[in-house]
Order: sequence, then C-alpha cells, then structure tokens
Amino acid sequence: MQEKIINIKSVLQNSTNIVITVHKSPDGDALGSALALSGVLSKLDHKVTVVSPNSYAPFLYWMKGNEDILIYSENIEEATKVTQNADIIFMLDYNHLSRIGDYSNVVRGSDAFKLMIDHHQEPEQDMADVIISDTSSSSTAQLLFNVIEKLGYKNLINKDIAECLYAGIMTDTGSFKFSSTTAETHKIIAQLIDFGADNSKVHDLIYDNYSPERIKLLGYCLNKKMQIYPDLHAAVISLTEEELKSFDFRKGDTEGVVNYALSIKGITFAIFIAQKDGVVKLSLRSKGDFKVNEIAKKYFSGGGHINAAGGISDLSVKGTTKKVVEIFKKYKKELLTNQIKYEN
Ligand code: 5GP
Ligand code: MN
Repeated sequence: MQEKIINIKSVLQNSTNIVITVHKSPDGDALGSALALSGVLSKLDHKVTVVSPNSYAPFLYWMKGNEDILIYSENIEEATKVTQNADIIFMLDYNHLSRIGDYSNVVRGSDAFKLMIDHHQEPEQDMADVIISDTSSSSTAQLLFNVIEKLGYKNLINKDIAECLYAGIMTDTGSFKFSSTTAETHKIIAQLIDFGADNSKVHDLIYDNYSPERIKLLGYCLNKKMQIYPDLHAAVISLTEEELKSFDFRKGDTEGVVNYALSIKGITFAIFIAQKDGVVKLSLRSKGDFKVNEIAKKYFSGGGHINAAGGISDLSVKGTTKKVVEIFKKYKKELLTNQIKYEN
C-alpha cells in the first residue's frame, strides 16, 4: 500500500485535470466516495469533475457537489471531452469496466493515469495503473478514508466531505449492521462525526425522505409479491415494469426492498427482481457463508460481494422468477447448512 501511496502522490503532483468515475446508477457509497474525493482534491487546486454513467436516486442529491456531477448518458459530448482531457481517472466502487456501461469505451480510450479504489471481489487486473482493492473493507468510502489518511490529506476533511463519507459507509453497511462492519468502521465513523458530520441528518436525508408511493410500493411488494420458501430458507420478490409504473416509480424506490425478505426469521437467501427500462435486474442478498456473488456470476452475468450481489436476466420477470426458484431448489443443501447459530 505504501508504495502505491507514494506513486499516487507523485502522479497527483503532476496532474491538473482529474476525473472521478463511479459505476452505473451509483449508490450512496459510490457517490459519497466520489464527492468526498472531489472535495479533498479540489482543496489541493486540482480541476476535478465527477462523471456518473447515468442518473441516480434523488435521495442522494443533498450531497455537497452533487449539482456539478456530469451525467454521461445526458451529456455524452461534454463527458467524453472532459474524460479525454483528464490526467488522472479515478475508478471508485467498481472493478470491471462493464459496470460503467457505454462510458467504458471513453474511459478505456483515455491515456490518463487510472487509479481504482474499490472493495468488490476479483478486480479486473489490467483495468487501472494502480489498484487499491480491499474486499474486507465495508465500503469504498471506508477504504477511501484510509487512502486520504495515508496521503496525508486527512486534515482537509470538512463537514461536507465527512458527510459524504459517512453516507457511503452507512449505506454500504446497512446502517452498520452487516458483518462487514468492524471496530475500524466505527472508529472511522467517530472521526467523521468529529470532523463535523451530522450523523442524524444523514440518516434522515437518506432513510426518512421517501415519497408516499415508495412506501406503498414496499407494502405491495411485501403483501402481494413476496414468495417465501421456508424449507429452502429463501424468498423472492418480483415486479414487472407495469407494476413499477403504477406506483410512479422513481430511481432508488426499490432499494432495500430485498432486505425485508432477508429479515424474516430463517431466511438466509433473498432475491429481488424488477424490470426497469426493459432490463430485468436482480438484487441478491444472503446471510452467512452463502456466496451470492457466485450465483450472480454463474446465472445472471453479474457479481458483487459474498452477501450482496446483482445481475441481469434475459428472461421475462416471470421466467426469471421461475429460474430463481429452481436455483433455490438446486442449492437446498447449501442453504440448509448455512443456518446461522449465535453463541450467547
Ligand atoms: P444492488 O443489488 O444493490 O444493485 O447491488 C448489490 C451489489 O452487487 C453491489 O455491490 C453492486 O456493485 C453489485 N452489482 C449489482 N449489479 C451488478 C451487475 O450487474 N454486475 C456486477 N458485476 N455487480 C453488480
Ligand atoms: Mn460499495
């Protein structure tokens, strides 16, 4: 790590234009990390642009610097130009170029120095010049905090930057409840609060800021659309595009729905399926050792973490749901042996 930090420092010293990129439909971790890094580097007089491949959930708009984010799918020419002119391209919270969609052609074609900071499994090795990957880190935001500290820039973290990092860690740890949450995570969170992060405000802006339609959609999912397989310790929730439209769906409205299925006693594998813009997307979650990233990779051209992964399906919502139930049955043995027992 130390060698990489020295390398980053020297590259930064010789660079003016910096582009920070995130995965498609960035979540709190991706966007929080990008805006925090942008905040720090701007203070060092770099010209920084955050580029998102496409739009994202409105509950992230409050983050400082949000209004300056360039959305590639809506500003292809400008985003291409700024990327081509970059001296450094940061890749945050993704480790495969496929995760940034069509924007990957622009990033791949750029001569900029590329630097990945990420916590997903199996990083694509030739994607960047320097790869800082820590799959044990709860979030990219937590890893980024370590990188900022090692670079000697921790003193540049202000309230706004601290709140972006806080939001990143909070969302990727499910509010500090996932097993990826460690003492180190809490120590960093404590420092962020010391830097001025209003923790209660961040929770409120992200989790208590929903439209009535979103809450009604959640009710519909749980009451009408959830299929529970107690014997298989698994559950699935699926939604068609029409159903989403009938609840005035906005980006981000289905985030976290899958966790409700996982919160049922005995359920250790849950899948959420929804068709958005014609594409059937899946969110897979598990508890314990059951590796959903392997399921996502094998059956749904996806990936992610051991307990949280995603992918796509070329079948209909109905066909995908059937396939999911077949997968539950196929992994019955693994799911039965994956039941978590706590010592007390
Ligand atoms: P979510 O279910 O919240 O969309 O994603 C959960 C996790 O899986 C995230 O860490 C995300 O990066 C990863 N993920 C989601 N969709 C995809 C995908 O299509 N491909 C890959 N490789 N990872 C994904
Ligand atoms: Mn993340």
